Amino acid sequence: MSESQNADVVIIGAGPAGLSAAIYTGWLGLKTVLMEAGVAGGRAYLAPKLENYPGFPEGIKGSELIERMMQQAERFKVQFNADEEVVGIEVQDKTKRIVSRKQTYETKALIIATGTQHRKLRVAGESEFLGRGVSYCATCDGPFFRKRAVAVVGNSEEAAIDALALSDLANKVTVVSQLEVLEMEGTVLERLRGKANVDFVMGKVLEVEGNQVVKAIKIQDFATKQEVEREVNGVFVALGGVPLTAIVQKAGIVTDRTGCLTVDRNMQTNVAGVFAAGDCTCGGMQVATAVGEGALAGMRASAYIRRGGK
Ligand SMILES: Cc1cc2nc3c(=O)[nH]c(=O)nc-3n(C[C@H](O)[C@H](O)[C@H](O)COP(=O)(O)OP(=O)(O)OC[C@H]3O[C@@H](n4cnc5c(N)ncnc54)[C@H](O)[C@@H]3O)c2cc1C
Repeated sequence: MSESQNADVVIIGAGPAGLSAAIYTGWLGLKTVLMEAGVAGGRAYLAPKLENYPGFPEGIKGSELIERMMQQAERFKVQFNADEEVVGIEVQDKTKRIVSRKQTYETKALIIATGTQHRKLRVAGESEFLGRGVSYCATCDGPFFRKRAVAVVGNSEEAAIDALALSDLANKVTVVSQLEVLEMEGTVLERLRGKANVDFVMGKVLEVEGNQVVKAIKIQDFATKQEVEREVNGVFVALGGVPLTAIVQKAGIVTDRTGCLTVDRNMQTNVAGVFAAGDCTCGGMQVATAVGEGALAGMRASAYIRRGGK
């Protein structure tokens, strides 16, 4: 491994929160390194259309918004390190050390924007049929289910968006609520209800069944308490995310019991000079809120550095 490199600010995660933070710290003239385990965009890259992100009355594809943010970050000379997962951090001293498999950075301030990982269904057949009918990404895998029958498991806005996108491809989309009350609302739900090929089952998935590939799901209906079977070729799990905060917990940065990073109103964690933004703080779990938190974290990190780390 090469010797360590210096930065004013290191940002972990190049989703909307990390990119927004980087745009701010770059714009404020700080030497900014943005480290990303994969490619830029995070979960927002998968959003077929963001209809609620301010400033785009007709909506914008998640990938297009991310490309625009990347161009803006580049303009402010942000160093973007793709395919560089952070595997360890040390934050007890004023200078923080950020370790990836390729190199180590020493930085005055750190912004954590690691987002979330999809929540699992935890039923029989889920792991067995992963990639053979079970998917966590409607945008990526939806086209494989053209003119077929699929189930979307989930009750959030994300599940509604997935179901709507799939209803344009599949013959039949069954939304399984998992909860007794439907929490979807607004225009996406209205549009879903208007689709002839979409139906809702208020029930809980018990098992994904199949033989080599998915053939059906077994559901317990909340009203009748009966087990029902639906023939489907695909099961899209859309249960939201679990914060990706294991490496930061190891470094002594405080989270709540569900793994969400605890921050004050300046987006600072329990460690001075370590800030967090976006879905890993379990705020709004939206692009607009991630961008807002990222901007604030960037501004506060800059102020912290200019005060000499106080
Ligand atoms: C299908 C879908 C549709 C959606 N639709 C909408 C919508 O219409 N409107 C809306 O507002 N929101 C929508 N969302 C939610 C939105 O995408 C998220 O709220 C938003 O992306 C959160 O941004 P973030 O930057 O906090 O986290 P993320 O986007 O999750 O980005 C986190 C990044 O951190 C990286 N990372 C994690 N750990 C490490 C590590 N150790 N080292 C380096 N990098 C790391 C990850 O690879 C990832 O790129 C949708 C999400 C999905 C999946």
